[in-house]
Amino acid sequence: MTSTSSTELSNPELLATVGQIAAIISESSYAVGMTGAGMSVESGIPPFRGADGLWTKHGTPQMDGYASFKKDPTGWWNRRTNRKIDAHINELRDALVKAEPHAGHHALAALEKQGSLQSLVTQNIDALDEKAGVENLVEIHGNRTKLRCIECGDRVSLGDFGPLFAPDPCNKCGGVVKFDTVMFGEPIPDDVMTAARAEIDKADCVLAIGTSATVRPASGLLWIAQSAGATIIEINPTETKLTPICEVSLRSTAGVALPLLLETLSP
Ligand SMILES: [Zn+2]
Repeated sequence: MTSTSSTELSNPELLATVGQIAAIISESSYAVGMTGAGMSVESGIPPFRGADGLWTKHGTPQMDGYASFKKDPTGWWNRRTNRKIDAHINELRDALVKAEPHAGHHALAALEKQGSLQSLVTQNIDALDEKAGVENLVEIHGNRTKLRCIECGDRVSLGDFGPLFAPDPCNKCGGVVKFDTVMFGEPIPDDVMTAARAEIDKADCVLAIGTSATVRPASGLLWIAQSAGATIIEINPTETKLTPICEVSLRSTAGVALPLLLETLSP
């Protein structure tokens, strides 16, 4: 196990660790990326947890979001469109609208295109991986630019437009429509969980980037991969719960590490 603990890596240390990661990826037959909130933070999207987290600033929200949505979907949409919602959601929404993919997102898309990575499983809802051009993408917690029917699971893309009033019932089945983004208390949609699990089952290497590996069930996939024999690599500025099961831990931001990894792995 190699672990570099300082956030102030010297350039040779950084390059040496990137070289180790590149070697493992080159030798793997199916490498999967798994990203968490740290990726989004580098695009200016505030996290929920931690010192500058939205919940730290605005207080922890009600954890029954999905139950209250199901009780009164129209009321939920009306509160949202009138911005009569939690302060932390307003701040998050404003940041999401402005966010653009950073060098790390673009590097992931390029790594996939050249065949170094086979797919990306993300916990982020910001749609920045899609915008950067990642194609084989599983968004475990949904995509903020889509609507989803809670009955049949049909998804509709919104692009950059936010709905101004409660959307019509589902075109296919007449069911209630919500944002694709998974709410508190809402199960991960079956199709998404199945797709994520299929990627993890195929993986002999998982590159975990900017994830504290604390949000279930997404984080559980990393332990499943490890116990099935996959090599786990971590890119994160700080130590995480995942660190003990990682073959290599690189203490760096994604925006710095991933372009270097791309450069090292490029033909
Ligand atoms: Zn439907």
